[in-house]
Amino acid sequence: MSETEVLLELTDVKKHFPIRKGVFKKVVAHVKAVDGVNFTIRPGETVGLVGESGCGKSTVGRMIMGAYRPTAGHIWFKPDGKQRTDIASAEPSEIRALRPYVQMVFQDPFASLNPRMTIREILAEPLVVNKVVRGRALEDRIRELVELVGLKIQHLGRYPHAFSGGQRQRISIARALALYPRLLVADEPTSALDVSVQAQIVNLALEIQDRIGLAYLFISHDLGLVRHFSKRIVLMYVGKIVEYAPAEPLFNRPLHPYTEALMSNVPTTRPELVGRRIILKGEPADPINPPAGCPFHPRCNYAQEICSTVVPELREIEPGHLSACHFAESLNLTGCDALGCAI
Ligand code: SF4
Repeated sequence: MSETEVLLELTDVKKHFPIRKGVFKKVVAHVKAVDGVNFTIRPGETVGLVGESGCGKSTVGRMIMGAYRPTAGHIWFKPDGKQRTDIASAEPSEIRALRPYVQMVFQDPFASLNPRMTIREILAEPLVVNKVVRGRALEDRIRELVELVGLKIQHLGRYPHAFSGGQRQRISIARALALYPRLLVADEPTSALDVSVQAQIVNLALEIQDRIGLAYLFISHDLGLVRHFSKRIVLMYVGKIVEYAPAEPLFNRPLHPYTEALMSNVPTTRPELVGRRIILKGEPADPINPPAGCPFHPRCNYAQEICSTVVPELREIEPGHLSACHFAESLNLTGCDALGCAI
């Protein structure tokens, strides 16, 4: 894989949901769920998309899947390494044609599996509908998928309710892999699972990536999980990217106060540092009416006058390490490595 080869590229992607009121459903405001997001995913790479609930990360995932059409921007997808398609403006028929190449795994595996279908039927469905294989080859592919996710052939005749949460998530992953995708969008895929099972699912995802070279967009609120899984990490706050960097430099030396605050709240292995937690003031900004200037300024311990009037651009501060903070170069922020984060 070339370092410059790109599988997915988001450029200035926005999603503003209208709020309508009155008899005539007049648009009175917009929820700026995603407000100008740029990042790339290379073939076989994992990018972690992190932020608090409501920051817009799941909306980004749904736009990549073609479930939401962006208000503005482009989502370029090049699954075959040759021709790229803009998912943002693609016709429904083009989205359907791309569907095998980009698949999604959801938070709640039970809700995403049809309780009236056996595991064999669940795995066969996408293969039959998309006319990928039939007959003996269909059964071979189903058995291959079951083996890939660490389940047994004898599980194929059972229904979803007969499995644990972790096993159900394995079935969801197997179904998502059925059509040989190039990109898997995983939206909080482990947050409904026990901690011990979370680790198994993450290890499974890494093994699959090694075996078939799949790329992941791993959406999570959990910095610890994302650290072990992602090559690069995107941090979002109220619809915007505030920091974007390779995993290790980010954890070693964050360049945005929001990232520092999130890291300070990760459990530490050094008891003397427990008191260093940064408690963020107030609630996340309202995406209907975000504050002027830097959207983080009402909660930021480092805010200065300029922060309440001028929007900070997302700038490259170090090679490949971008921050949307006016003072990214001069602040000496503390990362997980110095805090002894237990992740
Ligand atoms: Fe804080 Fe100002 Fe940087 Fe925003 S721009 S993160 S308010 S210091």
